[in-house]
Amino acid sequence: MSVIQIQNLTKYYGKTLALDGVDLEVEQGEVFGFIGPNGAGKTTTLRILLGLLRKNAGKVSVLGGDPWRDAVALHRRLAYVPGDVSLWPSLSGGEVIDLLGRLRGGVDQSRRDELVERFKFDPTKPCRTYSTGNRQKVALIAALVSDVELFILDEPTLGLDPLMEAVFRDCVAEVKRAGKTVLLSSHILAEVEALCDRISIINAGTIVESGTLAELRHLTRISVSVETAHPVTGLSEMPGVHNTRVDGTRAHFSVDAGAINRVMEHLTRFDVLVLTSAPPTLEDLFLRHYELQRGESAR
Ligand code: ATP
Repeated sequence: MSVIQIQNLTKYYGKTLALDGVDLEVEQGEVFGFIGPNGAGKTTTLRILLGLLRKNAGKVSVLGGDPWRDAVALHRRLAYVPGDVSLWPSLSGGEVIDLLGRLRGGVDQSRRDELVERFKFDPTKPCRTYSTGNRQKVALIAALVSDVELFILDEPTLGLDPLMEAVFRDCVAEVKRAGKTVLLSSHILAEVEALCDRISIINAGTIVESGTLAELRHLTRISVSVETAHPVTGLSEMPGVHNTRVDGTRAHFSVDAGAINRVMEHLTRFDVLVLTSAPPTLEDLFLRHYELQRGESAR
């Protein structure tokens, strides 16, 4: 069952086209990663899903409802964490957690205490005194304490230290095990790589790639370093081979997933001594699109 369905979503800010026909589908029980360069349209998409912004065209459904029309009912069933959390300055962190939790149908006290402990959070201080990371903890605990079906997280770990980021990862894994759905927008690619079942990359208001990490990797190149007994020749002329650097008996290159077998056969003629290969990281995939955008805007 789809928890989020977006088809051909278009959004203008005045004359600026922020979303240009976005398609996205998030299934129940999955952690879905939403990544893209600054200004690509992530926050705009999430704000439309939350009913905070009105779309210009396209279809959007969240938990079977229309986020604009059914906002009140839907917000009892979902929790949202923004990347820049603003809080009521004179309330304590604990009061804000309870307030937000009650809006979503009540707070389980033992779960709240457990999260406060795990995030090493002091809930007694007024929110105006909290650092960015501590404000982020308030929003995260308030979200995680609620028994909702869907979590929409927009850069949720901005300002958290690595230890707390690890706690966040554990919490998301638990939420997933409980069958809940998570849409996670993040710039921390290691986080997305570790947590997400499927990923969409958005660039300039359009989804440019979607799939599991394994599927996305399949679309791209593997980097190979090889040391041979005899200097390799003819490598750069082979189809599917890119960025070849040959230095005596050492060669480095990248190769399309579909061309590996032929390239390996070719290399054995030069007597392979050492060979290492690395799959593209999510960062490689992301940078390719990022560079694409920079190239376009430089033109
Ligand atoms: P970031 O990673 O920097 O948060 P993002 O992917 O969330 O970026 P959006 O904030 O959705 O990107 O912005 C998408 C586009 O819409 C950008 O070109 C941005 O300049 C534009 N935009 C966003 N908000 C507004 C606004 N209120 N008025 C005008 N233009 C806007």
